[in-house]
Amino acid sequence: MTILRARPAPLVAAVAALAAVTAAGTALLTGPAAAAPGCRVDYTPNQWPGGFTANIKVSPGDTAVSGWTVTWTYAGDERVTNGWNATVSQSGSTVTARNMSYNGSIPAGGSAEFGVQGTYGTAGGAPTGFSLNGVPCNGAGPGPTTPPTTAPPTTAPPTTAPPTSAPPTTAPPTTAPPTTPPPSGCAGAVLCDGFENQTGSTPSGDWSVVSPDCSGAGTATVDTSTAHSGSRAIRINGAAGYCNHVFVRTTKNLSGLGGVRYARIWVRHTTAQPTDHTTMITMSDAADGNRDLRLGGQNGALQWNRASDDATLPEQSPAGVAQSVPLPTNRWACLEFMVDGSAGQLRTWLDGVAVTGLTADGVPTHDIDGQWYNRTWRPQLTDLKLGWESYGGGADTLWYDDVAMGSTRIGC
Ligand code: CA
Repeated sequence: MTILRARPAPLVAAVAALAAVTAAGTALLTGPAAAAPGCRVDYTPNQWPGGFTANIKVSPGDTAVSGWTVTWTYAGDERVTNGWNATVSQSGSTVTARNMSYNGSIPAGGSAEFGVQGTYGTAGGAPTGFSLNGVPCNGAGPGPTTPPTTAPPTTAPPTTAPPTSAPPTTAPPTTAPPTTPPPSGCAGAVLCDGFENQTGSTPSGDWSVVSPDCSGAGTATVDTSTAHSGSRAIRINGAAGYCNHVFVRTTKNLSGLGGVRYARIWVRHTTAQPTDHTTMITMSDAADGNRDLRLGGQNGALQWNRASDDATLPEQSPAGVAQSVPLPTNRWACLEFMVDGSAGQLRTWLDGVAVTGLTADGVPTHDIDGQWYNRTWRPQLTDLKLGWESYGGGADTLWYDDVAMGSTRIGC
């Protein structure tokens, strides 16, 4: 992956910032939401035809901030559709990202990370004009007299609308930023587990380790060093080869969910999905001889597969694969799906965005769900298993956290 460093802001941005100094007078020269010179915004994209995600790391430099607003500008027709760890909006080609309640404070020398997902028709390359709280970053822009443009008005007229988040406190934080994780709400879900109640290194309690076919080098453990929230997640060391299958299976009774079930699963994996077929998540289907409905990958992108007849969604034609997306590596991704047993339909979202190629909508569509509907499909799912299954090539280390299943969509 290439880390794109933003080019210096264009001169017009510096001129505009200096004009803001003049307009605001000198009353707003300090404030906890201000960014120091030396701030950095590192934008790391992951792009595929028509879509992209990007991780953004904001580093305020040598002055702490108690709230942040990061902006940048795309040169192409990129449209941000959602984000994580920030509230994101777009006006024209300019994107604005504001901190959430739990990650607004960044100490001097520290950083915060968030991400966006979007679509494009014509990519414009690396975005430019990165700023933090109105101050140009990455070596661009004026020096330390730049006022904070997001500070609320005191005695001088505001230069911009006040922030919609909580106003800054009167002093920079003197303690470390909160380590409280993002909320992982489950909205009445039957299953809602961040694995924080796991007590040992082997998954237990509401989960059991299973190897449905045969066991080998694959392992499932409780990891206390990598987690989406809190301090625990399930780590799967997935090895290549058929006999290395390993999963954690929920021991919760999911029958109360009925025929329509929604899942929200945070997953982090390490190695890009290979050309070979692999599986991450399986659910036994009582209407299909208890064979598994499987979510994994093939040809480098996410894929659903039926173990009973090996039907795939999307079809593995180039046009079909192009309508799925790869699972991002080395960051937490929010995977959601819905299976409607009585209607025989299925939906999938990655980071909140519906994936066309992972949609079975009841009407057979060539390249997508044509093969899926070669026969009647009315699944009766009975469990949930998270792990790794390879049938030839394809090893991966991956983590699961903040797993939920309910009868309505739970959200990321
Ligand atoms: Ca956790």
